[in-house]
Amino acid sequence: MHTDPIDIAIVGGGMNGASLALALSQAGLSTALIEAVSLQSEQRPSYDDRAIALALGSVRILQRLGIWTELAPLAEPIHRIHVSDRGHFGIARLDSAAQRVPFLGQVALARDIGAALNRRLSQAPNLRLLCPARLRGFTQEADQVRLRIDQQGQQLGLGAKLLVAADGADSPIRRQLDIPTRHWRYGQHALVANLTPGRPHQGQAFERFTDSGPLALLPMPGNRCGLVWTCWDAQRDELLGLDDAAFLARLQQRFGQRLGRLHSLGQRAAYPLRLMQVRQHYRQRVVLLGNAAHALHPIAGQGFNLGLRDCAVLAEILSSGRSQGIDPGSPTLLDRYARQRDTDQQATGLFTDLLARLFTSPLPPLKLGRNLGLLALDLLPPLKQALARRAMGFR
Ligand SMILES: Cc1cc2nc3c(=O)[nH]c(=O)nc-3n(C[C@H](O)[C@H](O)[C@H](O)COP(=O)(O)OP(=O)(O)OC[C@H]3O[C@@H](n4cnc5c(N)ncnc54)[C@H](O)[C@@H]3O)c2cc1C
Repeated sequence: MHTDPIDIAIVGGGMNGASLALALSQAGLSTALIEAVSLQSEQRPSYDDRAIALALGSVRILQRLGIWTELAPLAEPIHRIHVSDRGHFGIARLDSAAQRVPFLGQVALARDIGAALNRRLSQAPNLRLLCPARLRGFTQEADQVRLRIDQQGQQLGLGAKLLVAADGADSPIRRQLDIPTRHWRYGQHALVANLTPGRPHQGQAFERFTDSGPLALLPMPGNRCGLVWTCWDAQRDELLGLDDAAFLARLQQRFGQRLGRLHSLGQRAAYPLRLMQVRQHYRQRVVLLGNAAHALHPIAGQGFNLGLRDCAVLAEILSSGRSQGIDPGSPTLLDRYARQRDTDQQATGLFTDLLARLFTSPLPPLKLGRNLGLLALDLLPPLKQALARRAMGFR
């Protein structure tokens, strides 16, 4: 049986795919979201207990998507950011009052962001949720993309004018299309866990540079903190294998006493770190989104913030195309998207890569340079303003 193709099929219901699905449903485009892991599952890798720093610009996008009201009570505002280099003199501080904004950002658990997105998705108009269901293959034709989907053993066919690949950093769709990427591994892992500090965090986020890489503590509700600790690959198993007391003692030694005694450690998880950026954003009715298009070092908490800006622009272009009767998979619209998003994606990738390399390097000239840089940042308001704007998600 042949039915008319829908406007857009999104593969991947992680934070980026789910956000785009909501935005497109609001714009009245007929959309299907295909996600392999059940929305009800407690074990969705995209929605674990990692703390996500949301820039002010991202909070505004989530407000427009209608999920911020539900998420706000579960999030903690960041009022100050404190950047330091372990054992050296450079320190920089960013302050929401000095920047004349209500907060520099907000921190929420990926799990809570997922729950809020999923509740909205299940009520969204114009949206067909295929979940759990897995894309098995697709064929690009002149007027549509034909998808082959496995929904719990049942084989489905679906036609869409545009296929959005939001299927993660290892994107099977990107691989099938053989889209070239720029990529490398940092030889590091990010260890993530939540804990309680001995003193109130007072909405302060800490970024501390150590000889194995950056270590961040993000403020969370209930005076909890989200830890992101970068370590070399060779240190990963040892750090994961320590008991809680030994792990906290090692962490305390790295972080210092600014927040008092660290305790009540939650579950630990580790993620390999890499940089990946696509060299081409779309190909014949298929566009890449979120981690499928760019995977970044989490040093500056930019990955999802960048993906959300991509979602907002793609939804706006497709929505205005709809009102002009333009095919959502047409090269005119996809080219407009690629041109509008390329600069931000390149600049954000470069910014995080530079930070990751500069602040991990043990070379004495670079160590001295970064300490002078931190000092300059603290003393020069325009420089500080520029960094604060980037941290808040404004370009
Ligand atoms: C330690 C750490 C800390 C971070 N901190 C921050 C932060 O503070 N701020 C920030 O902005 N970002 C942060 N990030 C980045 C952020 O987590 C990612 O950018 C974001 O989660 C990527 O979401 P995504 O939807 O693009 O991809 P994913 O979450 O990988 O989702 C891909 C989805 O596609 C589905 N899928 C794949 N193949 C198929 C298929 N064939 N059929 C159906 N479904 C399929 C998968 O099941 C999955 O649900 C951090 C990342 C890490 C690792």
